[in-house]
Amino acid sequence: MDRKVPMKAYSNRESSGGSPPLVRKQPTNISWLGTKVVATLGPGSSHPDVLELLLLSGVHVVRINFSHGTLEEHKQVVERVRAISDRYQLAVAIMGDLCGPKIRLGPVENDEAEIESGSTLRIVTEDIIGNATRVSTNQPDVLGDIKVGHRVLVDDGMIRFVVTESNDEGLVCKCEVGGIVRSRKGVNLPDSDLKIDALTDKDRRDLKWAITNDLDYLAISFVRTADDVRQLRDLIRSECVDIHVVSKIETPQAVRDIDNIIEASDAILVARGDLGVEMDIVQVPRVQKEICARCRRYGTPVIIATQMLQTMVTEAIPTRAEVSDVANAIVDGADAVMLSAETAVGKHPVAAVQIMNRIAAEADRYGDHLSRAVPANEFCRGVTAAVAHSIQTVAEHVESVAVAIWTEKGVLARLLSRHRVDQPILALTPSDAIRRRLALYYGVTSATVTKPSETHQCLQKADEVLSREGWAKDGDPIVMGFGPASMEWGDTGSITIHRLGARRP
Ligand code: ATP
Ligand code: MG
Ligand code: MG
Repeated sequence: MDRKVPMKAYSNRESSGGSPPLVRKQPTNISWLGTKVVATLGPGSSHPDVLELLLLSGVHVVRINFSHGTLEEHKQVVERVRAISDRYQLAVAIMGDLCGPKIRLGPVENDEAEIESGSTLRIVTEDIIGNATRVSTNQPDVLGDIKVGHRVLVDDGMIRFVVTESNDEGLVCKCEVGGIVRSRKGVNLPDSDLKIDALTDKDRRDLKWAITNDLDYLAISFVRTADDVRQLRDLIRSECVDIHVVSKIETPQAVRDIDNIIEASDAILVARGDLGVEMDIVQVPRVQKEICARCRRYGTPVIIATQMLQTMVTEAIPTRAEVSDVANAIVDGADAVMLSAETAVGKHPVAAVQIMNRIAAEADRYGDHLSRAVPANEFCRGVTAAVAHSIQTVAEHVESVAVAIWTEKGVLARLLSRHRVDQPILALTPSDAIRRRLALYYGVTSATVTKPSETHQCLQKADEVLSREGWAKDGDPIVMGFGPASMEWGDTGSITIHRLGARRP
């Protein structure tokens, strides 16, 4: 396989060429980095060599799912990701995914049990190693809330049961659609009203671990209301850290409270696996489109996830439908597209990341409609939002080949990202942690620089990076924006226009 080392700060993603009728105005010398790629890590991708290839193929956020694997394994993976990112100066964010009140089956003997349609499975409160007739669960307390006649759906609804009896031992279920049950597969109970906290004791332990290991994002599963999200935020704040919160939308309750949830979250993840079981599967595409549109109004990044290239778990090439699904998610306005089992346990993790990037590179070129009408709400108002908005207009007027911003907390980067500007965005930031956070934002590439003491030094820095990486050459018009947080140099946000090199001492 071709192993390319990307330019320092940028993706090595290549456009596959060709000229579709709707081509985004785009300088040809720039390796465009629009849509970001999230990859779930697991046994199929944690070997250092595979991980290195994966990151070099264009993974911007890695996801570690606390539902699987052990904390020791995760620690090793985190260390490897950080080491590889350091070696190649890649900005890779690490997202921990808290299980939340997700119900799962317990471990299964030899990690698989074949359950036939028509057979009986007992889900018991006792902590046992399961088999094809009896299996435990991670949440024995909820079994009492599940009534006779309720559906029990395993592995994103692939294997289906109905409860025929509830007794002291647990539940007796009749299998309606059989299949192979593996250890710790998820269980959905769309008919049951469960009394269960948004964060479990395990989540609290995993949260502490995430803080100790300096994770960049924490996803919260099975969010039902904005209060669930605020509960996690309060916990994070009480530890005096600033991990950003990603709310996984996978229940109908969350879809109903979506505006409040977006407002309470730093990012949104449309978790179509559970969502497609918890609500009617045919509604998922509409919900995805609505959530994408709403997130852009708030300036909140949104990740689309689950089964995006599912065939690649076993096959080397995705289906046409999968390729279309990824491209359409980007056209819907997704900031990032995610790989789950494809990279966690799949046979072709690196190929999956490569094809994902190629689909993204192609789709980024015809997402033109996204840069035109961007309705905003009150969360996209104020000085920083005004700077972001103006950058788009000014860059268009002066035909700037790239835009640069100075961002200390990443807010300007986030608010500019939502505009889907025609130019690549170079974000200069003084902190590696913020640089990793920006890895999720559509269209944003970043570099860490020591904080300049004056505006003109900042412009010089931007010029240096832009010309070093071949994004712009001497004399090219460059637009640079500063948000109010950076304004020790002034007291309001500002935009400057200059020609590259003009500020050189
Ligand atoms: P979620 O609802 O949080 O997405 P999931 O069970 O669907 O949970 P994914 O993270 O989507 O899990 O991963 C897909 C599959 O890959 C899982 O069902 C699991 O079998 C496997 N997997 C993921 N991470 C690991 C890991 N660290 N160790 C072992 N298997 C893993
Ligand atoms: Mg999943
Ligand atoms: Mg899920």
